[in-house]
Amino acid sequence: RKPRIAVVFGGRSSEHAISCITAANVLQVIDRDKYDVVPVGITTSGHWVLESGDPEHLSITDGKLPEVDVTAMPVVFSGDRELVVHEPGEVPNTLGEVDVVFPLLHGPWGEDGTIQGLLEMSDIRYVGSGVLASAVGMDKHYMKVVFAAAGLEVTPYVVIRERDWSRDPESCRAAVDKLGYPVFVKPARGGSSLGISKVNSLDELDDAVAEARAHDPKVLVEAAAKHPREIEVGVLGGLDGASPTASVCGEIAVSGGGHEFYDFETKYLPEGDEFAELSIPADLPEAIAAEIRAQALTAFDAIEAEGLARVDFFLDEDQRVIINEINTMPGFTPKSMFPQVWAASGVDYKELVDRLLALALTRPTGLR
Ligand code: ATP
Ligand code: MG
Ligand code: MG
Ligand code: MG
Repeated sequence: RKPRIAVVFGGRSSEHAISCITAANVLQVIDRDKYDVVPVGITTSGHWVLESGDPEHLSITDGKLPEVDVTAMPVVFSGDRELVVHEPGEVPNTLGEVDVVFPLLHGPWGEDGTIQGLLEMSDIRYVGSGVLASAVGMDKHYMKVVFAAAGLEVTPYVVIRERDWSRDPESCRAAVDKLGYPVFVKPARGGSSLGISKVNSLDELDDAVAEARAHDPKVLVEAAAKHPREIEVGVLGGLDGASPTASVCGEIAVSGGGHEFYDFETKYLPEGDEFAELSIPADLPEAIAAEIRAQALTAFDAIEAEGLARVDFFLDEDQRVIINEINTMPGFTPKSMFPQVWAASGVDYKELVDRLLALALTRPTGLR
């Protein structure tokens, strides 16, 4: 039989809609002659359902963000790597053994090691990073600790945990003050710029912390890079134990419309299009491009990522390369940087998806 791929999307995080848009596109390019595909949605409340995967219902329509169909039939994994349709009052009906899960999920409960742990426990192969890399890559605090240990330059930052903010906000404010303004306030575990604010002075700090805390009780405050250019690199794992490779550099320039940075609107919404300009490959001196691509590979290995990642950098006004973050399950929508930097590096969207599935199929299960 053909290998069976469960494409899992949606999920409990605030990036639910982006995951749906990504899935709509990935589902359309998976080679059906080669693979059986089962679309599995996770609703915003965490229920797993057998989705239609219909690209139309998984796209932005009339300005409305898509969502997993909550009325679809519930599915669960049985102990034998089998997906089972579980209708209440009915005899469970198996959909057969799943060979690979493609967890196309962004943010907590998907990109952070949680679903990876579930799959490890069930001995099911999956696309992308394992438990540790996913967890470290999701947490902007531990990510920086690991990057710094690997010799990469990160922006100075302050961590504000739940207990710090509730017991002693004054000390938190004082610590942030030492960074100097402007700062970026972020949920430690987030994505798509949701919950992120640029803060220009102390009097804006509390609102920004509240906004970030709505996404994550752990908050990160970072010194802003100085007039940075934003450069992103895609990394793909090597087949048959080969080393990972880095794509060409892509650049994002955001300006106008009151957008001070690469926010949710400029990333994903049609009305943000005119304010974000992507240049692929980025117009950079050869040596700087090579340096950034090398650092992307260092970052990938530093967290022990597997399969794929997108690494985001700043090139500041002094030409310093500063690593911003890694995303172990980057956006895959047609507007997203990851597929575009790979297309410019000779790997088109369909081939990219095929390569990720091939990588996952050959990956051993268990401790690696
Ligand atoms: P995604 O996962 O979608 O890439 P994210 O939610 O993890 O995004 P970041 O990439 O950390 O968020 O930040 C989002 C954007 O905010 C950056 O692309 C950049 O425009 C701006 N930004 C974040 N941190 C800084 C910083 N320290 N200095 C300057 N700009 C920043
Ligand atoms: Mg991110
Ligand atoms: Mg992300
Ligand atoms: Mg980013």
